[in-house]
Amino acid sequence: MKRQQFPFMLEVTKCSPQLAIIQLGDAFKRFFKGESKYPQFRKKGVNDRFSLSNDQFRIDGKRIKIPNLGWVKMRENLRLQGKILSAKIFKQGEKWFVSVAVELQNIIKPQPKTDKQVGIDLGITDLATLSNGEKIQAPKPLKAKLNKLKRLSKSLSRKQKGSKNREKAKTKLSRLHFKISNIRKDFLHKLTTSLVKSYDVICLENLNVKGMVKNRKLSRAINDLGFYEFKRQLIYKANQWGKIIKEVDRFYPSSKTCSCCGFIMDKANLTLAVRYWTCPNCKTSHDRDVNASINILNHATKVLTI
Ligand SMILES: [Zn+2]
Repeated sequence: MKRQQFPFMLEVTKCSPQLAIIQLGDAFKRFFKGESKYPQFRKKGVNDRFSLSNDQFRIDGKRIKIPNLGWVKMRENLRLQGKILSAKIFKQGEKWFVSVAVELQNIIKPQPKTDKQVGIDLGITDLATLSNGEKIQAPKPLKAKLNKLKRLSKSLSRKQKGSKNREKAKTKLSRLHFKISNIRKDFLHKLTTSLVKSYDVICLENLNVKGMVKNRKLSRAINDLGFYEFKRQLIYKANQWGKIIKEVDRFYPSSKTCSCCGFIMDKANLTLAVRYWTCPNCKTSHDRDVNASINILNHATKVLTI
């Protein structure tokens, strides 16, 4: 079939379709287990990428030998020492990247202990509110660049399919997407690194991100902030640096409980719009998010570590 129907497949190494078929097999396994959706067909020119097994490529300093292409210069050396497992070559924002999987020994490098712990309440107005009262606002790259994004996607949809101008518009759009995702990643990495360095124990709420994203009004803000990515980074950095992440289950009423006396407010009196409230029992004034993060910290001491 390859020669007659898909001649372009002969332009690449034969291992590339082989690995793609293995990956398709994995995707079907996950589908039959109910873990993921039915595999999607891929299209040439959309998210172009291919993988290589470790016997298919070689890395020598700042260059990599790719079958059929030969030596290709890389921007930087491979930073990690260890057994090379595989490589994925992909395009993002009109730039080509190679991602190399390396098996590492002893990745745990404990950071100095600080004897401090913190509770974090994640939200929309402030990305994170810490139990010490600190509030962290996320840059909202999507919001700032949304108009540009709208304009570019409109301009793309007006261009004729297959035309040179359409290609140009597509390039512009994918560069913008790339920029936005870089701003977001940079911010999140700096934030999670500083949190894991500053605290020995970090307590979070188990948010039902999927459920929240279904709520349309909240969804753009949440996708923009990257709650899921925030948590993923915290967990892997804590594992690497010998710190602890704890999670409070999502049915714990962290917002409604008074962190001073434990009184639980009526839900009707504490809608999302209420940012400040006073406990009717002990008369303490609360900032909604700070109170929630203190509760998360106090409650988390009773739960399992993740
Ligand atoms: Zn109270």
